[in-house]
Parts: sequence; C-alpha cells; structure tokens
Amino acid sequence: MMKLHIKDTFTKNLPADKNPQNTRRQVTEAVFSYVNPKKTKKPQVLHVSPEMASELNISEKETKSEFFKNMFTGNEVYPNTKPYSMCYGGHQFGNWAGQLGDGRAINLFEVEHNTKNWKVQLKGAGETPYSRTADGLAVLRSSVREYLCSEAMFHLGVPTTRALSLSLSGDMVLRDVLYDGNPAYEKGAIVSRISPSFLRFGNFEIFAARKDVKNLKVLVDYTIKHHFSHLRKTSKENYITFFKEVSERTLNMIIDWQRVGFVHGVMNTDNMSILGLTIDFGPYGWLEGFDFGWTPNTTDIQHKRYRYGNQPNIGLWNLYQLANALYPIIEEVAPLNAILEQYKIDFEIKSLQMMKSKLGLFSSDENDVELVKNLEDTLQLVETDMTIFFRNLSNFSDENSGFHLIKDSFYELETISDDVKNKWNNWFKKYAERLQFDRISPEERKEKMDAVNPKYVLRNYMSQMAIDEADKGNYTLIDELFQLLKKPYAEQPENEKWFAKRPEWARNKVGCSMLSCSS
Ligand code: AMP
Ligand code: MG
Repeated sequence: MMKLHIKDTFTKNLPADKNPQNTRRQVTEAVFSYVNPKKTKKPQVLHVSPEMASELNISEKETKSEFFKNMFTGNEVYPNTKPYSMCYGGHQFGNWAGQLGDGRAINLFEVEHNTKNWKVQLKGAGETPYSRTADGLAVLRSSVREYLCSEAMFHLGVPTTRALSLSLSGDMVLRDVLYDGNPAYEKGAIVSRISPSFLRFGNFEIFAARKDVKNLKVLVDYTIKHHFSHLRKTSKENYITFFKEVSERTLNMIIDWQRVGFVHGVMNTDNMSILGLTIDFGPYGWLEGFDFGWTPNTTDIQHKRYRYGNQPNIGLWNLYQLANALYPIIEEVAPLNAILEQYKIDFEIKSLQMMKSKLGLFSSDENDVELVKNLEDTLQLVETDMTIFFRNLSNFSDENSGFHLIKDSFYELETISDDVKNKWNNWFKKYAERLQFDRISPEERKEKMDAVNPKYVLRNYMSQMAIDEADKGNYTLIDELFQLLKKPYAEQPENEKWFAKRPEWARNKVGCSMLSCSS
C-alpha cells in the first residue's frame, strides 16, 4: 500500500462541529465538520499530475494503483484519517450570503513532504453539511477545466491551488447548464485539489458575522502559526501585519492575473484564499481580445462586477470585508485603513511595473504611464488578441514594421480602418523612441519579454474541445493540453497550432465564450 507522511494540523488544532451527522445545517463554534465522501459507482482515474504527485511523494507506480483510484475518488479513506468539510461564509456579488462552506469539497488529510505541508481535498465527492440545496457533486466539464487550469496557472508562475488527479465517478449528475429549465444528465467527476491551505476570507467572516470572537481568534492564531510563522507570537500588532501580508499577496496574485489575461469570474469573498492563491476555478476565462470590460460569467453579465478591468478593485473590496472581519480582534480602524490605502498605491506602482515588463521596459520615464494607457486604449479599438499581441511584440525592431508584426492578433484584419492603423503607428513611434532609453540589447529584451508574456494559455475553446472529446471517452486532448501548458513561455514549434486566435466557431459556443456557474 502507498504510504504517505500524514501530518494533520487543521483538525488537531481547530474546533470541530460536535454533530457527526451529515445533515444540512448551520454549524456554529466550529471551523469544520467531519464527513465521509460518497462511494461512487465506477471510479476511473483520467489523469494525474506527475509534478504534484512527486510533491506528495507518490510514485508513478502508486498513482496507477487501485488504492490511489479509490482514495482520490472518495471510495476508500486512508487509514487513521478523518475527512472533513470546512465552514465559511461569504459576500457573493457584493452581498453578505451567510453560511456557505464546503458544499462539495471534502478534505482528506494533510501530507508533509520536503518540509512542505499540503492539504488534500476532493471536489465533487458528495454532500456535506454545507451542501444547502445542491448535490455535492461536480460534472466532467467543470472538473476538466479546474484540473487543467490550476496546473497551468502553476506553470505560468501565478500563485494557485494545485490539482493531483482528475477522475470520473461513474455516476451521472443532473445539471441545467443554461438555467433555462432543461436539465440533463452529465458524467460526474472528481478532482483532487492540493494546497498549503484552503482557508478563505469567508472562514474568518463567518465568525465575525456570528460575533464569535473567541473562535475568530483561534482561527487567526492557527493561520499565523502555520502559514505566517515568521510573525511568531500572536499580538494585535501581528494581526495587523497578518492583514497587511494578506493584502499584499492578494494584490500580487491579481497583478499576475492581469499579466496573463486570466479572469476569475466569481471573486466572491468565499473564493478568496487567505494565502493569496487562485482558488475555485469555476466560470473563469482567458482574455482573447484585450478588453477591460470582459467577464466570462453569464451570471455576472448585467453588472459585470467581475470583469477583467475590475479585478484589482474587487480584490480591494474583498479586503475591506476581511478587515471588517478581523476588526474585533484588532479594535483599531486606522492601521487597517492605512493598509487598504496602501493597496491602492501599490496597485498603481505594480500594475505599471507589470505592464512595462510586458513591453520590455526596465528604466523609468515620466511618460511611461501615458505610454501604457495609450496602448491599453489602442488595444481596445478593435478586437485584438492579447496573448498574440504581447508575444509578437518581443520581435519589435522598428516603428515601420510594428503594425505588420502584430497583424495576426487582429480578429478582423480586413476591416481595420486607416484611423485605427494610424493610431497603432503613432503608438509604435512612441514605443520605438522609448526603447532607445533602455540600455538593453534587443536579444536580452526579447528574452525578458518572452518570460512574462506567455505563448500558450488555456483558451476557453481549448478546454471545451478537451471536454467534448472526454465526454465521448477520448482523453488524449486533456493530456496534450496538460503537456503544452507545462511550458507556457517556451517556443514549442510542434504546438504552433495552439498559438492562434480563437476560431470563429467558438465565438458564441457555450463553454467557449461564456460560462454559467452550473458546475
Ligand atoms: P462557488 O461560488 O461556485 O465557489 O460556490 C459557492 C458555494 O456553493 C460554495 O459554498 C460551494 O460549496 C457551493 N456549491 C457549489 N456547487 C455545489 C454543489 N454542486 N453541491 C453543493 N454545494 C455546491
Ligand atoms: Mg467557491
């Protein structure tokens, strides 16, 4: 049998729900409830992340075992461990939603390896006390999306939770994809997700909302001890520093999202990791045309609260909610406000730095803000592919060939007006002048630009193709994309076909352009 180095800290140090029943309810004065995953009809492992397996010290041979399959689909519990689901609340689309919790996530155990501690969790393994009106299950399409994207984010260098395996449960699951009263059965699936912690802003908010300051403090102390251990002792001062670090990590993560064109889609406070990791891959999407107004989530289409250009603001809004939640153990407004103010200042600085790195600019010039703003405006004149634009820009040599260089990024090249062309030529002229100030060779600049501008991202239609194939029982495309996205910044001549604009058939296809939350 596969032997893991189990080291549970969460259940050992935090208060458990006293009720052992798996019934839906409000759970108070507890951080989690013990619950067993559901047995499934005919589990089948479809894919395993070798990188993640090795992080957990699981050999390739072991990943092929019956035990692995049973354990990571919830059909067998590792000896002497007790699975559990976490209690949290959250602000959804700007409103307090009360208790939410792991409605379909079940934590198995913690594994320690190479001085790292990993929480291992199943998503879609059956109902829990937090399932509310839903079934606790997940379907193949959303599981493929979470599995591929979380590992892709890791290889892009974006802070994220990880995934170990993608499996079919063998059961069918009823979903109304378009919310139009036409539910249909889909294949059920289970992803095993891995993270140093799955704690969310909402885990802290729920105690504050219930005025349970005692357990709020217990949870913050645990979090500091295990995840911000450099802060050492727990004091008001350190609670403030803790919040400051969460704020910084959140901003850094969002700046990375902006850099690679990732739109999370549901930045509710229950989907914000306390470690600043990208978590809960639901109706997320990748920018194709560069567009600050784009959101992938059909549920958000009216207000576009979670649109690309609004992600940094929402990060701040969510941090306000976390500050409110932490206030009862800090009891001072000024330092919390100062941290939130600093977020705005840091956002301006880091956002500019990030955009400049995408442009290959490393010195400072007073017109840089203007140059970047002008680029963002120009990129939005007509539909212009973000990934292709920035990737091709690293071959820039002179202003006269600029437009030609980025031709492939336009979705409708034939209809581009002279006015738009002129605007591009004006921008290239300024860019060429600005490049003169940077004392860096074109070769070195290209290398640096290619290291921050990915060539391959998980475009929405790519996942959808893998999903359509998987639905028919063919899993080769899942593996092809998985391999491709391990080296998103590298040239992969054999994979050039994935360095292409979204095909027209995918423009309005469900799953390719917009997604609902019905996962
Ligand atoms: P989300 O915003 O999609 O991350 O989910 C919001 C809340 O709904 C969380 O508490 C989830 O656990 C819960 N949830 C989502 N889908 C299901 C499901 N199929 N069964 C039970 N709970 C769910
Ligand atoms: Mg969630």
